[in-house]
Formats: sequence, C-alpha cells, structure tokens
Amino acid sequence: MPYKTEDELRGFLCLCLDPGPGRTKRTAAQLAAIMPDPVYEALIQYAPNLVELREHAGQLAEQATAAHNAYAEGLVAWIRGDEPLSVRRRKSLLESAMAAVQAAQRHIEGCADCRPDMRLPEMCPDGQREALAAADDKPECAPEEVLQLHQQLTDGVPPHGIEITR
Ligand SMILES: [Zn+2]
Repeated sequence: MPYKTEDELRGFLCLCLDPGPGRTKRTAAQLAAIMPDPVYEALIQYAPNLVELREHAGQLAEQATAAHNAYAEGLVAWIRGDEPLSVRRRKSLLESAMAAVQAAQRHIEGCADCRPDMRLPEMCPDGQREALAAADDKPECAPEEVLQLHQQLTDGVPPHGIEITR
C-alpha cells in the first residue's frame, strides 16, 4: 500500500480513528484488531517497537485460549461424570520465571552467602538449585523454556513483566 511517508501513514491512521463528523470513531484497540496486513507492514517500517508488543499480545492470547479450552474440557468432563481432569498444566514461562525469582528471594533471606544483587550463577549451589527447581516445578515446564529462563536470569535480563525487587 503506498504510504510514501511516515506522515502520510500517520494521517491515514488518524482518519481511521476519527473519520470525521457524523462517522463512527474507532478505539485504538479496534484499529489494532482490524488493521490489514499491508498497513501493518508499512507501520512497522516506522515503528519497529510495535512488533514485539504485538507478538507478546499474540502469545498471551494463545495462552488465554489454551486456558479457556482446558477449563471447558474440565467442565464437560464433570458434566459427563468422567474422572476429573488433572489440573496439571504447563506453566507459562512468566509463571516459571516468577516462581524462580520468588524461590531465590526466599533463599536469599535465609542464606549467609547470597545477596539480593546476585545473579543466578553467583548464588550458592543450594540457592541455584532451589530457584531452578521452582522454575521447573510441576506442572511441567518445557526444557527449552527452563533453558531460556536460565539464560535470562543468567544474563540478568528480567523476563517480561518481572521486576526483581530486593
Ligand atoms: Zn545461598
């Protein structure tokens, strides 16, 4: 789609939000939901930061759908009188990361060697074991997620949405 300049695209999107007197306005969320691919492709040329935000939203939406489906399956199992479905489900990476951070914080409070500003590899062996065990706690976390988590903690990069407090 021919948006020759950033301003041209911005003007078009502005009109999409508010087409003018007597015409229906859209919210930003509505615009985001209906934005055609060619417009999105043009947009991210100028606003590459939106790619990660959209991907993150998509991943969370997939997790939400999976959770709703699991709930619906459990519901129908109960209606039929089947054995209750196991409530075990895979932890999301975020949940694993939060569990690891919480376990590390609990450990640090009671450990003479570990300090709050330490990264995972700097912690004592017990602390490392406790944090990773919490991340990998049942319900299962895929090995690649644990690896990714370990890497994020090792690099000192807190996973999305996690603030490491002391
Ligand atoms: Zn320790």
